[in-house]
Amino acid sequence: MTEENKGTIESTPAPERRPNNRRNNNRNKNPQNRQAGEAKGEVKPTSSQNRPNRGSSSNRRRPATATDEDLRAFVVKNQEAHKQRLNPHFKLDLNSNAKVRITPLGGLGEIGGNIAVFETEKEAILIDVGMSFPDGEMHGVDILIPDFSYIREIRHKIVGVIITHAHEDHIGAMPYLFKEMQFPIYGTPLPLAMIGSKFDEHHIKEHRKYFVPVEKRQIYKIGNDFEIEWMHMTHSIIDSSSLAITTAAGTIIHTGDFKIDHTPVDGYTADLHRLAYYGEKGVLCLLSDSTNSYNTAPTPSELAVAPALDRVFSKAEGRVLLSTFSSNIHRVQQAIQYGIKYGRKVCVIGRSMERNLEVAMQYDYLRFPKNVFIDVEELPHLNDKEILIVTTGSQGEPSSALFRMAIGEHRHVKIKPTDLIILSSRAIPGNEGSISNMLNFLQRAGARVSSDKDIHVSGHASIEEQKLMLRLVNPKFFLPVHGEFNHVTKHKETAMLCGVPERNILLMTDGEQIEVAPKYMRKVKTVKTGKTYIDNQNNHQIEDDIVLDRQKLATDGIVMIVAQVDNQTSKMTAKPRVTSFGLVADKQDKYFANEMEDVLEHFLMHMKDGLIENPKALENDLRQVVRKHIYRKLKKYPLIVPHVLVQ
Ligand SMILES: [Zn+2]
Repeated sequence: MTEENKGTIESTPAPERRPNNRRNNNRNKNPQNRQAGEAKGEVKPTSSQNRPNRGSSSNRRRPATATDEDLRAFVVKNQEAHKQRLNPHFKLDLNSNAKVRITPLGGLGEIGGNIAVFETEKEAILIDVGMSFPDGEMHGVDILIPDFSYIREIRHKIVGVIITHAHEDHIGAMPYLFKEMQFPIYGTPLPLAMIGSKFDEHHIKEHRKYFVPVEKRQIYKIGNDFEIEWMHMTHSIIDSSSLAITTAAGTIIHTGDFKIDHTPVDGYTADLHRLAYYGEKGVLCLLSDSTNSYNTAPTPSELAVAPALDRVFSKAEGRVLLSTFSSNIHRVQQAIQYGIKYGRKVCVIGRSMERNLEVAMQYDYLRFPKNVFIDVEELPHLNDKEILIVTTGSQGEPSSALFRMAIGEHRHVKIKPTDLIILSSRAIPGNEGSISNMLNFLQRAGARVSSDKDIHVSGHASIEEQKLMLRLVNPKFFLPVHGEFNHVTKHKETAMLCGVPERNILLMTDGEQIEVAPKYMRKVKTVKTGKTYIDNQNNHQIEDDIVLDRQKLATDGIVMIVAQVDNQTSKMTAKPRVTSFGLVADKQDKYFANEMEDVLEHFLMHMKDGLIENPKALENDLRQVVRKHIYRKLKKYPLIVPHVLVQ
């Protein structure tokens, strides 16, 4: 498709030129054609030999021989048909003044933490409320949740929270939002059940009353301004959805996380038909998953791990321990199936793994006979060859069951040399170190570890699937989402290859508000975003300044100075006490203390008049002097805690 036929907004065609109308006209004119079994549209030969045999006077509309002009005319007609088919513009109401504002508050410029606001003049919805993980510098922080400032600002407009799927980076921050403010939560059963168990954990069970379960392929009116359909999607968690969000401005498709799996384990393929339906009707804007924007090879089906699982299970001599993401129910299901096939009982270890499996079985997403499962206490009574342990810890998390087994600190399971460990997952960027660390422990304990590539498949669309999505939806505007800047940039390139003009694509970052209307899409403003730090031990927030102090302590150490100064003479009455941590080695402590003493003396000698009466200002000035001195000598900015006692 060229830019001209897609990009010009003036190109609204007259209705009679639409392919549909044309087809209808033909049908009306030639009813006999259809009755003669030609509905498929095959062209009957019209040579003179054939005609007499038909014995009909109602000779067809076509001349005996199609002339060059005829063929050329049909080439033009077909070109026109393609142009109309591929041009999304004429399907939108360009006279409408309606518009929608889209603001990602998380999930852009990062992987995870997905949350977005869709807003009309009077109403707003939130799409997903996810969490993300801290980087190595955020000491003592377990999870990150989005800054809710903007949501507070527009809370009176919010008519619902819309959930695409049950991954932590899409629902993990729900309890924190709901402790502060509540709205109806619309979602399919599994995501709601998973949010429910989070609410229970956070002692806000009563907020389950906000659940509104939805049925896929139905359209729900939410508030006055939004109509939403959940369309089934394949992903690395079951019961995922894409959304068709229809507003007065047009329909916006949000893919959620997706891959296109034609042979999913449960047989529920991605609902491409509904996407195509909206694509045919005309889509204002597409927001699509950019996580795997660089993957050129198509993402394999979840079923593709089956042969590899079969192979490793068939060869295992002792126990098998399989670790994967606890939310990947289909992977767990396949593991259990091969366990059963090779005569093993299944022991599930790890809190999130147990909880997710329980929810999946409770709501009939998974069916296994109860006697397949055994408790951890029963393990000693079985032969090793009869045991499959399904567990958490595929990312090498030190608190996970597998890690504790690896270092010999798990209460029930110690790693044996005959064990086979299957890591059925990829390393989330940033976790490579901890995974490698765990591998060292597992192998030191003598176990064999299988982490072949073919034992895991991704849950996200590769380039070819992204193209399929773009072609099915055929949007006028495109907003690549879910990914760091380089991922969305790559996705933009793919969209341009699929005919979306560059000017119709915007690359967003968190907090940027985009206004989209049938005639235009533009950035309008930036709202406050950021991350709130959470301590998982008590589920409480850690204030920003605490984390900053910890960073300083970790990188530059701390110096504490206690000095007594005579009020009259401005001289120290005793030697100052200097204590430092993480700055100089123990053996240099004395030397360092002497140095600080000199600095103090010098400072007191040249002190401004009147400063001694103002202890706060005195300590501040002293801090500056010490900071300068330490930076000059050690190139460090430690935390400096001066106490000057004036007597
Ligand atoms: Zn996901």
